[in-house]
Amino acid sequence: MALNLLMLGPPGAGKGTQAERFAKLRGIPKISTGDILREAVATKTDIGMRAKAIMDRGELVSDEVMIGIVRERLERPDAMHGFVLDGFPRTVAQAAALDGIMTDHDPLIVVDIVVPEAELVRRLGTRSICRLCGANAPVGLAVGAACAKCGGRLVQRTDDNQAVVLERLKVYHRASEPLVEYYKVRPTFRSIDGAQDPDRVAADLAAAIAAASNGAGAGSVR
Ligand code: AMP
Repeated sequence: MALNLLMLGPPGAGKGTQAERFAKLRGIPKISTGDILREAVATKTDIGMRAKAIMDRGELVSDEVMIGIVRERLERPDAMHGFVLDGFPRTVAQAAALDGIMTDHDPLIVVDIVVPEAELVRRLGTRSICRLCGANAPVGLAVGAACAKCGGRLVQRTDDNQAVVLERLKVYHRASEPLVEYYKVRPTFRSIDGAQDPDRVAADLAAAIAAASNGAGAGSVR
């Protein structure tokens, strides 16, 4: 059975970090819509040029564009044996479209990473990414330090300044938090405590996925 994993949670919950770790462990692609958009911005594609201003304000790129990006990405052969989705869906319309794309596929396993708001604001204000490869830096590594993966310089994300962070959290509560209601009726839904250290979160994630896979095996829900 393919492991089709979807990570939910607010910005700063650790979705990207955990998604990358888990995807590497299982040898399946991590599909991050934020990374896809940042790459499009960096290479100045049409979508990237239109998305940049929206991202810099902390708002959401349109459902139509995002659904198109994800549909195309999930059709690629490497996603046939499973994937980890990070940052998509972010609206109920995106979730409904994803259910359509996933018809006749193995069930989606959905894990929500829960972190208190004050901790999110603290993390987003201090995190950094590599300006060359875009990797998330481990917590505590300062802006200006070298990326452990490629040696590039670590910088703050342009949407991690305080005003934009607050807007992104507002957008999360309005547009994305309803996804918890959307998915939590499924036996393949689990939530985990993301306020712990990353190794503990990874262990809880693995346990949640194992338990949710049993739920999927019961066969009652897509
Ligand atoms: P992230 O790296 O997931 O925090 O995404 C960074 C930014 O990209 C978000 O603040 C949005 O502007 C945009 N974005 C990423 N994924 C989506 C999505 N599924 N729907 C709409 N906008 C998105």
